[in-house]
Amino acid sequence: MATHYRTWGFVLKKENIREDDRLLTIFSKDFGKLKILGRAIRKIKSKLRGGSQLFTLSEIEFIQGKTYKTLTDAILVKDFPEIKKNLGKLKIAYQISQALDNLVRGQEPDEKIWKLLNETFKRLNNLQFTVYSLQLIYYYFLWNLLSFLGYTPQLYHCALGQEKLIPAQIFWSSKEGGVICKNCSKKIKETFFKIEPDTIKLLRLILKKDWVTLQRLKIDRGLHQNLREVSKNFYSYILSQIE
Ligand SMILES: [Zn+2]
Repeated sequence: MATHYRTWGFVLKKENIREDDRLLTIFSKDFGKLKILGRAIRKIKSKLRGGSQLFTLSEIEFIQGKTYKTLTDAILVKDFPEIKKNLGKLKIAYQISQALDNLVRGQEPDEKIWKLLNETFKRLNNLQFTVYSLQLIYYYFLWNLLSFLGYTPQLYHCALGQEKLIPAQIFWSSKEGGVICKNCSKKIKETFFKIEPDTIKLLRLILKKDWVTLQRLKIDRGLHQNLREVSKNFYSYILSQIE
């Protein structure tokens, strides 16, 4: 008889396959990222439906087959109703799930990522935010996830020549892994661009996991754009490295 595995997990992605089946991407407490087949899960009568909703925490049970893991039980543990009600929050939940699915490749338990995911969903559900600070939840998740996976950026001195940073003359290079000084920027061939001192401050606070301070900050459009540019550039660079 097949062994049944039980764990808690966040349902992050659902793909419809064949007539009534669905392939679920779940980040679990005990196994890390899992791809599990939900057989006949799209049928109205399926007992697995309630516990396999997107962006919920569920207790799941599965068996390991030759090719697939198959879901055998799913019980809802925690719903996050405010995420589903708000389109802005829902969008962030999709971004978070996608980043995790893209960056975490293998199946391996990870206590830190599990904790980060838990606090991120709670935060997204509970707090009232403006558009920019809602985005901050995503950036907080993304940069900490990257850091847990071994891609902590250099934010305290020049990533290339180790010089002290002069606020008005700093640039970002994803390839060099962080901020670089003006002198070094002249020596490199790859793309680099201006990073605002306030963006560096934000990133430092994010990686210190200082949510209390981050929450109080006023983020204007310009700062948000710079943060988005740096984040997007670093994220795509890392993705291109692991593909
Ligand atoms: Zn330098």
